Amino acid sequence: MALKTGSVEMFFFPFVGGGHQIPMIDTARVFASHGAKSTILVTPSNALNFQNSIKRDQQSGLPIAIHTFSADIPDTDMSAGPFIDTSALLEPLRQLLIQRPPDCIVVDMFHRWAGDVVYELGIPRIVFTGNGCFARCVHDNVRHVALESLGSDSEPFVVPNLPDRIEMTRSQLPVFLRTPSQFPDRVRQLEEKSFGTFVNSFHDLEPAYAEQVKNKWGKKAWIIGPVSLCNRTAEDKTERGKLPTIDEEKCLNWLNSKKPNSVLYVSFGSLLRLPSEQLKEIACGLEASEQSFIWVVRNIHNNPSENKENGNGNFLPEGFEQRMKETGKGLVLRGWAPQLLILEHVAIKGFMTHCGWNSTLESVCAGVPMITWPLSAEQFSNEKLITEVLKIGVQVGSREWLSWNSEWKDLVGREKVESAVRKLMVESEEAEEMTTRVKDIAEKAKRAVEEGGTSYADAEALIEELKARRLARQD
Ligand code: UDP
Repeated sequence: MALKTGSVEMFFFPFVGGGHQIPMIDTARVFASHGAKSTILVTPSNALNFQNSIKRDQQSGLPIAIHTFSADIPDTDMSAGPFIDTSALLEPLRQLLIQRPPDCIVVDMFHRWAGDVVYELGIPRIVFTGNGCFARCVHDNVRHVALESLGSDSEPFVVPNLPDRIEMTRSQLPVFLRTPSQFPDRVRQLEEKSFGTFVNSFHDLEPAYAEQVKNKWGKKAWIIGPVSLCNRTAEDKTERGKLPTIDEEKCLNWLNSKKPNSVLYVSFGSLLRLPSEQLKEIACGLEASEQSFIWVVRNIHNNPSENKENGNGNFLPEGFEQRMKETGKGLVLRGWAPQLLILEHVAIKGFMTHCGWNSTLESVCAGVPMITWPLSAEQFSNEKLITEVLKIGVQVGSREWLSWNSEWKDLVGREKVESAVRKLMVESEEAEEMTTRVKDIAEKAKRAVEEGGTSYADAEALIEELKARRLARQD
């Protein structure tokens, strides 16, 4: 029987940009739909990105609100690198928590300073890392490998204690796992003092890894995703995370003019900027593949002056865009695209992705197999899950982990791009099997978040636990 204590009050404190902010906002919306009074804590400039969807939720009666801090940090335009200092928000957060202590606060791990403030005030803190269970297990268990004894960065080793045989190389690991670094220890400490952690995934996607995270980790884990599925209307999908800066009408009209299952969607997330030489290789590979594509090109890497001068994207090969326009083969978009809408369009057959966890889940939910091109963060682990465990993707052949802002060493050539695109897009038994598998998983994703599903149950369980905790305090 549900306890009668009124709604629990949850605060959500997302990081200040793209891949971490978007799922946290969806998570707040999920908990509001479960009846928790959910408040999203953000800077004034960031609130503008998603306030429309929250207004719509409020109009439909959901208990959700935005609290904007009086302090701001420099506008990050959705592409906040993980080391942006958000500590200007420390005092406003402390004051808010003293005045209005919630039943719990969900904090993104990149607000490194926030753990102590919340801990001092005795408020249950739930950590949000943005990763799935598989990547989490890989990173946890890589710690037990003597990486220094490997012959080279490209020598494979087996990650111990995993349910599947997974080989990685040192070059695929984040630098902070390869060399002594305080970062993993700090994240671990953040979690050790926490009430538990949220995982944006669902049990049936990675069951053995979900069990490992839930049972062997020593802290509670609530697996509550895919949270993107809370975006049910076209408006929510279009404006999710941020208003699109491209003409979505034009994009949808173009997709409408294509045959079902015929277009490749190409995008590398909110943060990564590719160097112009790499963009050229992609352009040539795509053109040579003779497949239709829609490609979201963001500014190029590490060269602001080039970006300014070539604001129109002249870093693509000579005449490329004109040819794509004339033949109707490709649509090149610049800016922020409505990714959910694009992925769910019937014309989309595949997604060339950097394997960011949100993009991965969104592709899975849309039943779209992937071409995997991991570059940074935990993306190489996500690639293993996609291509070797779930078998719903083709590797492009990316080998070298990069810090989000470091020099590029390893370009992927046009032949590799063409070959991966053909493998996924040209009809074959292998491609068909991948599509069948991912569509099956997409159905499981939908069931997970519906009443009776595992993610639905985990969200309810947390709410009940918070209610019980509140009752115990009142006694
Ligand atoms: N995204 C989007 N439009 C864009 C680029 C990105 O909607 O033009 C969204 C995408 O749907 C996903 C998030 O931004 O939800 C990117 O997160 P992900 O974990 O895939 O990668 P990151 O940006 O963190 O590297």
